[in-house]
Amino acid sequence: MTETAPPRVRAEIDLAALRANVRTLRAHAPTAAFMAVVKADAYGHGMLPCARAALEAGATWVGTATPEEALALRAAGIDAPVMCWLWTPGGPWREAVEADLDISVSGLWALREVTAAARAATRTARVQLKADTGLGRNGCMPDDWPELIAAALRAEAEGLVRVTGLWSHFACADEPGHPSIQAQLDVFREMVAHAEEQGVRPEVRHIANSPATLTRPDTHFDLVRPGIAMYGISPSPEVGAPQDFGLRPVMTLTASLASVKHAPAQHGVSYGHHYTTPGATTLGLIPAGYGDGVPRHASGTGPVLVDGKLRTVAGRIAMDQFVVDLGGDEPGIGSQAVLFGPGDRGEPTVEDWARAAGTIGYEIVTRIGSRVPRVHM
Ligand code: PLP
Repeated sequence: MTETAPPRVRAEIDLAALRANVRTLRAHAPTAAFMAVVKADAYGHGMLPCARAALEAGATWVGTATPEEALALRAAGIDAPVMCWLWTPGGPWREAVEADLDISVSGLWALREVTAAARAATRTARVQLKADTGLGRNGCMPDDWPELIAAALRAEAEGLVRVTGLWSHFACADEPGHPSIQAQLDVFREMVAHAEEQGVRPEVRHIANSPATLTRPDTHFDLVRPGIAMYGISPSPEVGAPQDFGLRPVMTLTASLASVKHAPAQHGVSYGHHYTTPGATTLGLIPAGYGDGVPRHASGTGPVLVDGKLRTVAGRIAMDQFVVDLGGDEPGIGSQAVLFGPGDRGEPTVEDWARAAGTIGYEIVTRIGSRVPRVHM
């Protein structure tokens, strides 16, 4: 590749947009602290640059799923409070304690392992107790909560843990008005009240993800934990479009047109011949495929802006490439094809690809593969 050659495919990450989104979300939750959720490589946007940008824009916490992600933040010099919530047996809990990470604990088994790690490290572990208020996934059930609270308080008395947080997660916040939102909120309030009556003094109580941050101020408590909205992507069509909330999409995925050729009518295109040219036409080759995270489920439906015109994926998306029918146009080789971006230049959005692939925006960006360079700007 010469220095001037256009990249095969690349993801531009607009950190100014991310910073603006953090400020906008903070304005939606002015009394709450802000935890920037950067798990899964910041939903595919690049964990370290995104975490730094979010902190610059006023986030005061960073949230990850795994302890390894959280430790990578520390190794990169991020010293803000960092919470990791995916507890698994045999995880690097001693390192997590030594790195002053907030570790989520959903049950006695996890508390036992974290206190053992604290003992080994001769340090106090920062622990956030997670309540299952109705998500039915991770978290302590209400019936088991008193026992967990009692055990955590005993460990606190021994100096092994400090209960820094009480928290939970919504099941249906992306469906505003869903009755489970209020039900979970009521259960959360009861579980927090019980813990506090027993003597727990948390620094933060929190339950709000992006949709709750945007649509339910009564869920904000001491801290909000937005992920998807920070990247300028809608949590769901029911919540609304990003621009309805003043949010700007952060990722733009582009590729360079690798071939333009004439094809006759009735020419089968790509594996399985699921597309046949309706008449004589030109076919453009986009050198990106499901090996880069372009969802194969969007075969025949995915939208792409090529040379100012909106085209649709013709036939199957392959591992490394797919085809668009250019309808006789002949854009130059190397012309930029925009798979998705903010949408204000006529290009499709992440939401358009989610619809085309029958999935959610979260999956579209998170799956953009390691073969795609992220260019942070
Ligand atoms: N909190 C937890 C525990 C999560 O798992 C997630 C992501 O799924 C978030 C917050 C952020 O959610 P969202 O991206 O919908 O804002």
